[in-house]
Amino acid sequence: MARHGGGRGWYGKVVGAALGVTMLAVGASVWTAQADSVGVGATPGPSASATPGNDTKPVDAGIVHASDAGPRGVNITIDDGPDPAWTPQVLDLLEEYGAKATFCMTGVQAEAHPDLVKDVVAAGHRLCDHSVSHDTAMDKKSEAYQSKEILDAERMITEASGGVRPMYYRAPGGAFTPYSRRLAASHGMRPLGWNVDTKDFERPGTEAIVTTVQRELANGPTILFHDAGGDRTQTVEALRQVLPWLKEQGHTFGFPVR
Ligand SMILES: [Zn+2]
Repeated sequence: MARHGGGRGWYGKVVGAALGVTMLAVGASVWTAQADSVGVGATPGPSASATPGNDTKPVDAGIVHASDAGPRGVNITIDDGPDPAWTPQVLDLLEEYGAKATFCMTGVQAEAHPDLVKDVVAAGHRLCDHSVSHDTAMDKKSEAYQSKEILDAERMITEASGGVRPMYYRAPGGAFTPYSRRLAASHGMRPLGWNVDTKDFERPGTEAIVTTVQRELANGPTILFHDAGGDRTQTVEALRQVLPWLKEQGHTFGFPVR
């Protein structure tokens, strides 16, 4: 499975700048990425206000990074699964620390492991469409191809979950296009970016993954991990340290703004 490209973490700043948002300097530890929620609508509110995964209303096509859990909220995002070796371990840790996460699944993996998709939903986590086949060059291909990758995955994930729809779309490797963002948004899937790429996919060592989170969290609240695509022992061990650390720092776990 293709690796995620580096250097995507600046999305948040670029998007914020493009929106012309004035960021408030309220202390170095408080994120300004909340600005991403501009334009979402008048009723962002807590996630409980809508039935997760049953809402097909069009959403904003801008790439979101902000958390619905307030200024100390973080969004744990888990990509490329589900995988029977790793997803259950990740789910156990999330439960242990009372954390909710967003799982960006490929259509292929969801179709192969529908029980895991249902486990994710039953635990209160959210689903995200991560394309059918994880083609990180899909932004260079036709709109017909992009549409098939996104909408087939939407269908495969929804069938695997037993009817709960993905609420976000994250392009593999961040290979969004204006077309793919609009298409996903028109199906109720908010384009989802990230602020902290833990680089866990490259297996840099557990400590390196933990340190990356601690160092880069000031960039914004959405953190990228993986639960498939190879040996994810380091990811699991890193989460075992990162989740309690986040709680000690006063963070709360939320979902990306929709
Ligand atoms: Zn991925």
